[in-house]
Amino acid sequence: MSTGRLTIDLDAVVANWRALDDMTQCKTAAVVKANGYGLGAANVAKALFRAGARNFFVAVAEEAIPLREALGDKPDISVFSGHMKGDTDLIRDLRLTPMLNSLDQVTTHFEALPGHPFGIQLDTGMNRLGMEAQEWAAVAELVLGQNPTLVMSHLACADEPDHPMNPHQLENFRKMTDGIHSPRSLAATGGILLGPDYHFDLTRPGIGLYGGHPFTNANPVVELDLPVIQVRDVAEGEVVGYGNTWQAARPSRVATISGGYADGIFRILSDKVTLFHGNQPCKLVGRVSMDLLTVDITDLADTPEKLTLIGQQQSIDDLANVGKTIGYEVLTQLGARYHKRTYGK
Ligand SMILES: *Cc1c(COP(=O)(O)O)cnc(C)c1O
Repeated sequence: MSTGRLTIDLDAVVANWRALDDMTQCKTAAVVKANGYGLGAANVAKALFRAGARNFFVAVAEEAIPLREALGDKPDISVFSGHMKGDTDLIRDLRLTPMLNSLDQVTTHFEALPGHPFGIQLDTGMNRLGMEAQEWAAVAELVLGQNPTLVMSHLACADEPDHPMNPHQLENFRKMTDGIHSPRSLAATGGILLGPDYHFDLTRPGIGLYGGHPFTNANPVVELDLPVIQVRDVAEGEVVGYGNTWQAARPSRVATISGGYADGIFRILSDKVTLFHGNQPCKLVGRVSMDLLTVDITDLADTPEKLTLIGQQQSIDDLANVGKTIGYEVLTQLGARYHKRTYGK
């Protein structure tokens, strides 16, 4: 097998969900959009369902197809993008709960599927999804009369605990929802960590389940090992890879390993990132190619069969920092070519 091996620890996902659940007095959902942040939505959701999760969120209705099949009828599957034209059949047949984002969506939903469960998404300042205060004021009474399953909003800066946007959005959310009888939700992973004022009736963690920042105490969930295809000696002064960006300053041994930007190993990591053989760091040299990386293994005592890019030595957030991005993007860009090994219950 010459593709990288992505190992996904579902016990760690479950432990992370439990730890986040233990931080609140309310219900804890699980966000499994983008195929469970790249790790396999069906497997993740099944493990969390067994652990007690009963509310799942996806970004778009289509993402619910494998999920409903894996989970059966019991759990609630909600859709952040709400009820778009063309979604009606899926929402009805899979019994999805759309989080309605606008007057338009409220009208679409009430006309197409009268009596079908729905939630409401409010905009409290992020200006991305949801009804604004004025719009909400005009329809709140009518909508609340239909008993939404959830009234929710989303925080823009929850990963920065001291950001003034957090209390600002909290205040807006309270103004728009205090006194209603429907369950409320404001917090994703970052919001959970902001404390009980932000918890309301349901939290919606995503990245924390998968071991990412800002849940710094999370159990790591993924390991990515890339097999060595070939090893060569490179004389002092010789160059390696596209564009000759790296030149050997000493007699070197260079391993060519399977994995490249087509596998979500960003090209910006060229000449920057470190891989690991056990505890021993080995620097990537030269450019990241589409399918291959070249790594300086001169200082290793033996020739490795594989090198580790994500694991104990380097978290998804460490890798994200080197690539000037965030753990979310590292996870969701993990390639389709990897051999995925999922273990745990
Ligand atoms: C993605 C998303 C979440 C989960 O956010 P994390 O930061 O991954 O915990 C929750 N709510 C909404 C509306 C989202 O889009």
